[in-house]
Amino acid sequence: MLLFSIFGDPVKHSISPRLHNSALNGLDIDGCYVRKAITDPKQLLSTFHAMKLTGANVTVPHKEVAYEQCDEVRGLANEIGAVNTLVKEGNRVIGYNTDAEGFYEAIKSFGSIKTALILGAGGTAKAIAVILKTHAITTTILNRSASRLSFFEAKGFTCKTWETFNPVPYDLIINTTSAGLSDEEFPCEERLLKSIFQEATYAFDVIYNKQTPFLELAQKYHLPCKDGKEMLLYQGVLAFNLFFAKHYDIKTIESLMRPAFEL
Ligand code: NDP
Repeated sequence: MLLFSIFGDPVKHSISPRLHNSALNGLDIDGCYVRKAITDPKQLLSTFHAMKLTGANVTVPHKEVAYEQCDEVRGLANEIGAVNTLVKEGNRVIGYNTDAEGFYEAIKSFGSIKTALILGAGGTAKAIAVILKTHAITTTILNRSASRLSFFEAKGFTCKTWETFNPVPYDLIINTTSAGLSDEEFPCEERLLKSIFQEATYAFDVIYNKQTPFLELAQKYHLPCKDGKEMLLYQGVLAFNLFFAKHYDIKTIESLMRPAFEL
C-alpha cells in the first residue's frame, strides 16, 4: 500500500486527506493519505523516510524548512523559496511548490488580468507574486510592515507599506494576509481598501470556507470574487499529479477531488 501524508503544525483541520483519499479511491489505487503533526521542523525528512512515504504535502509553518531539507528542488519552488509537495524518487526526496500554480488555475476564470495588488508579504504572497510575474502580470505588494518586503524588492516588484502607498487602478486585488481568518479585521485600513476596490476589477482571498470582511466589502463594490477554495483544490490536484509522475489525467483528478469539498 502506498502511503502519503500532510505535514504541519497544526494539521487536524487540514482538508488534504479528504481530497487525496477521494482521488486514491476513485482511481482504485491501493493507497492512503494521513495527517502527521510535526512540531520540530528538523524532523520533516526523517519522518518522511520513517513513515516510508511515497509523497507528502507540507503546510504552515514548515514550507521554508522543507525547501532547505529536500535533496532537490524543482520548478517555481526554487524562486519562491518554499516547498509544499515532497515526492520520493528512488532514495531521494524532490520538493515542488504547487500553491503558485494552484492559485493561477483558480484565477483563470476571471479572464484577462494585466495588473495585480497583493496585500500581505508572507509565504503565500511569495508564491502568488512569483506566478503572476511568470505570466507577465505587473504586481505591487502592499504590507503592514516593511520587514518582509526585501524578498519582493530583490525580485523587482513595486513594494509599499500602508504609509507609503498611493492607490492606482489594479485589475486584481488579492488578500494573502490572515486578517479575517479568525477575526473580523480588514487586511488594511477600511478607507484605503474602499479606494482600492473603487477602481478594481476582481478580488481574491486566499482564506477559504469563510466570507471575510475583505470579500464582503469587495461584493459591495460588485467585484467578481473568489475565496481560496479553488486554489486549495488545484494545489492538491497538482500535488497528486506529481506523486504519480503525471500518470493520471489532471481533469479526472480534479473531478474526483472536487466533491470532497462538499462532504
Ligand atoms: P504568513 O504568516 O507567512 O504571512 C502573513 C502576512 O499577513 C504577513 O505579511 C503579515 O504582515 C500579514 N498580516 C497578518 N495579520 C494581519 C492583519 N491583521 N492585518 C494586516 N496584515 C496582516 O502567512 P501565510 O502566507 O503562510 O498564510 C496567509 C494565509 O493564506 C492564511 O490565512 C492561510 O490560511 C492562507 N493560505 C491559503 C492557501 C490556499 O490554498 N487557499 C494556501 C496557503 C495559505 P506583517 O509582515 O506586517 O506581519
